[in-house]
Amino acid sequence: MSFSVESFKKQFPLFAQPENRALVYLDNAATTQKPACVIDAIADFYRHSNANTHRSSHRLARRATEMVEQVRARAAVFLGATTPKEIVFTRGATEGLNLLAYCLCSQLQPGDQVLLTTAEHHANLVPWQMMAERFRLEICYVPDQRGVPQFDRLAEVLTPRTKIVSLTAGSNALGFRTELDAVRAVLAGKNIHWIVDGSQLAAHEPVDVQTIGCDFFVCSAHKFYGPTGVGLLYGRESLLRAMPPWQGGGEMIADVDLFSSHYADLPHKFEAGTSSLAAIAGLGACLEFLDAQDRAGMARHEQQLLHFLHDRLSQIPELNLLSAADNNLGIVAFTHPRSAAIDLMQWLDGRDIAVRVGHHCAQPLVRASGHSATLRASVAAYNTRSDVEKLVAAVEEFFLHLGDESVAQTEPQISG
Ligand code: PMP
Repeated sequence: MSFSVESFKKQFPLFAQPENRALVYLDNAATTQKPACVIDAIADFYRHSNANTHRSSHRLARRATEMVEQVRARAAVFLGATTPKEIVFTRGATEGLNLLAYCLCSQLQPGDQVLLTTAEHHANLVPWQMMAERFRLEICYVPDQRGVPQFDRLAEVLTPRTKIVSLTAGSNALGFRTELDAVRAVLAGKNIHWIVDGSQLAAHEPVDVQTIGCDFFVCSAHKFYGPTGVGLLYGRESLLRAMPPWQGGGEMIADVDLFSSHYADLPHKFEAGTSSLAAIAGLGACLEFLDAQDRAGMARHEQQLLHFLHDRLSQIPELNLLSAADNNLGIVAFTHPRSAAIDLMQWLDGRDIAVRVGHHCAQPLVRASGHSATLRASVAAYNTRSDVEKLVAAVEEFFLHLGDESVAQTEPQISG
C-alpha cells in the first residue's frame, strides 16, 4: 500500500463537480471534504436502515442499533480505547468538552483549579469559564510566550488544587503541536484529570490514547474526512463510571420514576436522546476508509506539502509568517503589514482559493501573537503542489496589485 495523492483525491466527489474543478481548498482545519464512501453510507442509512435505535425492537431498529454499536467498536480501535464502553458519541468536540466541563466540575470544590493553555480553541475555554463561575472554581494557564504555551514550565503552575488539565494536541490557529509526552511525564501519578482536545490531531495521524496517556480525548469526525454532527469522546472506564450524567432524557436511563431515575450503563448514560444516526453510519464508513489508507504515506505527503507551502510563502517580501514549519499539524498562518487579512482572503476567494481569515476561534492566542486576524491555509492529504503554487501566485499577484499602497490598518471585526 503506498500513498498517491491523485488516487486519494479522486475519492472526493466535491472536487469532480464542474463548479469545483479549479477549486483550491486550503481550509481543512475548519473541515475536510468527504470521500464518496462517507456520502454513500449516509444516503444508504436513510435508504435501507432508517429507524431509531431502541433495544429489543423491530428488524430495522435492531439493524440501526447494530450499526451504531459496530461503529462504536470500530471507533474504540481507532482511538485505542480498551473497550467500546469508553466511547461516547457526541455532536462533536465542542459537545464533548461541554460534557466533560459539566460532569467533572460539578464534582469539584470551590477554589479547585482547572489548568488550560492560551492556545485553546474557544470550545476548550468557554465551557470551563461557564463552569468556573457556576461552581466557584479558578481557571489557570500554562505560562506562555506570545500565546505559545511553555510546557517546560507546566510543573511550576501545578498546585494541590489543580484537578483538571485540559489542552489541545495542536493549535488550530498556528498549527504548532503540543508536546504530549512532556505533559504526560509531568502529570504522571498525580490525581489530575487530563483531557486532550484532539480535534486537529486526528486528521493527521493515528491516535492511541494509551500512548498519549490521557484520561479523556475528544474529536470531531468532520475534521478527519467524516460527517458533521458526530464526534467521539473517549474516557477511561472507571472515570466515566464515577461521573454523573450530563443531559437527561430517553436512552440514558435504566428506569424512571416520578421523582428519580436510574441511569443506563456506559456509554449510554452519556447519550441522551436520539443520536445523529446517519452521521454515525458515515463515521463508520470514514473509519473503514482511513483504515484502508497508507496513513504514514498520507502524513509524509502532508508534511512535505506543508514545508513547501511554508518555504514558498516565506519568500514573499513582507509577508509575516506566524507559524513554523516543524512540529506543525498542517497550518500556515500569515499576515501582511500593509493589508487587512480580510482583503487578501477576498482576493483569494475571487480566484477560487479557500483559506480562512479571522481569529479562528482562538482569540486569546491570535491576540497574544499581536494580531486581531490572520490568514490560515491548512492542508489535507488531497492537496497538491499545484494547490500551493496557485495560492502563492495569487498572493504575489495581490501584492503586485497593491503596489506601495497601504490599505486598512484596522482589521474589520470578523466573527470566525
Ligand atoms: N478544538 C479545536 C482545536 C478545533 O480546531 C475545533 C474546531 N475548529 C474545535 C475544538 C471544535 O470542534 P467542533 O466545532 O467540530 O465541535
